Amino acid sequence: MQSFPKNIIPLHEYLPCKQQPMVIAGPCSAESEEQVLETARELSKLPQVAAFRCGIWKPRTRPGDFEGRGEEALNWLERAKAEIRLPICVEVGMPSHVEMCIKHGIDMLWIGSRTVVNPFSVNEIAEALKGVDIPVLVKNPVNPDLLLWIGALERLYQQGIRKLSAVHRGFSAYGSKPFRNLPIWEIPIELRRLFPGLPVLVDPSHISGNRAMLPHIAQSAMNLAFDGLMIESHIRPGEALTDSDQQITPDELAGLIRKLSVPGTISLEENLLLKELRSEIDQIDDNLLQLLAQRLEVVLRIGKHKQSKGMDLLQLERWNEVVEDRLKKGTDLGLSRHFLLRLLHAIHEEALKKQAGGH
Ligand code: PEP
Ligand code: MN
Repeated sequence: MQSFPKNIIPLHEYLPCKQQPMVIAGPCSAESEEQVLETARELSKLPQVAAFRCGIWKPRTRPGDFEGRGEEALNWLERAKAEIRLPICVEVGMPSHVEMCIKHGIDMLWIGSRTVVNPFSVNEIAEALKGVDIPVLVKNPVNPDLLLWIGALERLYQQGIRKLSAVHRGFSAYGSKPFRNLPIWEIPIELRRLFPGLPVLVDPSHISGNRAMLPHIAQSAMNLAFDGLMIESHIRPGEALTDSDQQITPDELAGLIRKLSVPGTISLEENLLLKELRSEIDQIDDNLLQLLAQRLEVVLRIGKHKQSKGMDLLQLERWNEVVEDRLKKGTDLGLSRHFLLRLLHAIHEEALKKQAGGH
């Protein structure tokens, strides 16, 4: 048994696009044959669009909401495929979906966030895909759990899926405004660090939840060198039965792509500058590590002293002073409050743990 992600097939081998960045585009849901065909036609004119996406079984939060047109829509997608000659990508949530998609010649599948959270469901889908050579995209689970995401990818890999990629669509959090789903970029970045060779796309539509923020998230994905985008596009977004606020017309998508700056190959000169800057960063990080270790040493001495005097390890008053003082100094230096608070909490947590004799 080969270990994940050995021999994962690069995206461009089965999903070529005429121009970067590679985009998988299409409506959140298939609503009517006319809507599917009109949207597909317009999208197929964009050289960056490498596949047409469309949801036909919609996992809805509450009953009574539009749940997709189901198998009937597969016929519309077959017609769209014959016309636009692009691979068609559909969400599957259970083995019967897989069977119907295969029967109707669907080219690619994606597993949605709500399904990825459940290893039983992912297993069933993976088993239904045993021996089927079809590309599969795996969205991140709704909760920020990197291992659960990796687990889902591994389950598909174990059944022989090699045209495998991940899609970052953000993580659900109560009141996560201004995002619909928090991007928490460090999670997909860690996925790429752990598994180089696994393509990772970004879905700015479900991260943003609105049209206004889409370009910003798409640009962040480009700056961070992700492998492509999945963007929801509807011929008449205002009439969409699902995710109306975040969908854009094919024309608007063309505009969004035009304005994206896609980091391409860089010149030798720029490369030298990059090398210099990186070595500066390396130096700074070395200093940071030294300072953190030095700080911890002093913390341990304080801990011993407190223990010998029978004092509590946590002195809230002192900690409050430290936080206020560092926040003031840090924000004066241009660092954000949010970042400083997270940093101070991480440092303090480690200090308390060490003082208490933990590792
Ligand atoms: C979708 O892509 O329309 C969808 C339902 O996505 P997610 O699973 O990321 O919510
Ligand atoms: Mn959607």
